Amino acid sequence: MTDGERRLVSLIVPVYNEEGVVPMFLETVRPVIAGEPYAFEFIFVNDGSRDGTQAILEEEHRKDARVKIVELARNFGKDQALAAGFKAAGGDAVIPMDVDLQDPPEMIPKFLRCWEEGYEAVVGVRRRRDADSRGKRLTAGLFYRVFNRLCDDRLIPNAGDFRLLDRCVVDALNTLPEHARFMKGLYSWVGFRQTVVYYDRPARKAGTTKWSPWKLWNFALDGITGFSTMLLRIWSYTGLAVALAGFGYAAYLIVRTLVYGVDVPGYASLICLLLILNGMVLISLGILGEYLGRIFMEVKARPLYIVRRRIGFAAEALPEPKQP
Ligand code: UDP
Ligand code: MG
Repeated sequence: MTDGERRLVSLIVPVYNEEGVVPMFLETVRPVIAGEPYAFEFIFVNDGSRDGTQAILEEEHRKDARVKIVELARNFGKDQALAAGFKAAGGDAVIPMDVDLQDPPEMIPKFLRCWEEGYEAVVGVRRRRDADSRGKRLTAGLFYRVFNRLCDDRLIPNAGDFRLLDRCVVDALNTLPEHARFMKGLYSWVGFRQTVVYYDRPARKAGTTKWSPWKLWNFALDGITGFSTMLLRIWSYTGLAVALAGFGYAAYLIVRTLVYGVDVPGYASLICLLLILNGMVLISLGILGEYLGRIFMEVKARPLYIVRRRIGFAAEALPEPKQP
């Protein structure tokens, strides 16, 4: 807590090559929070930017002591950057935000009002996704359907990282050690009293998106394999079904041979069975590999991220707090 009585709200902003966007972000957010009865801190997590982002952040820090910087040693990805931000945040409430103003700052007061009503997590949900392409909307919709079918931790469709989290939720998130940080799943896994607030997501104000379709596909895989073992288990049932069908077919063949004698043709059906069964074996091996790979990544138990430098934090906040 700072500023005497006022409670502290931490805005966590991961940035990766966003030199053109940072000043605009601050100019837009400052007036919105100016009237709020809280103290604020901006925690920028520089996720290994290779452009002038760090210099611009340091300049902003000199102008406004509320701007704090966690500089990571390289690009670790947005979810790890968020983890670094959650660790560094001192606020009674924490709001992760994108720097490109796709998370509208006008929502901050609405989040705070819900927080004051006693909600521990206030989740921003995109009402429309006009800024996204048709393809992205379709695949996103499909992903939520598949995920919620396979995994017990139900996701709120179209909810992103933009939300308010009470200190108790942040403390809970900070205890989760996993490497594959599928944040949407982790938020819902920790639970707490939550409510949703709807908003319209505008297009990016400047700069370019860091997501490619391949990255999104891997993101979806991480999400599902991180929260469900269903994909591993369906193979036992598939195997059972195929084996039973095989026995049935064998019985039929025996009876037919006894009744009608030996019959030569059968090449087509053999080839088909061969291809189908081998395909299934390979798919199931692949899925085993997906999980095995993730187990391998987790057992190494490396830290989630490496900090190069922290700027603007009280001396006692250094060095970097121990990670799970
Ligand atoms: N970001 C990050 N590390 C990355 C990729 C993105 O910290 O490896 C940040 C980025 O600077 C931005 C936020 O995450 O503040 C969202 O990124 P982006 O706008 O590219 O994603 P989109 O809005 O297209 O989903
Ligand atoms: Mg964006």
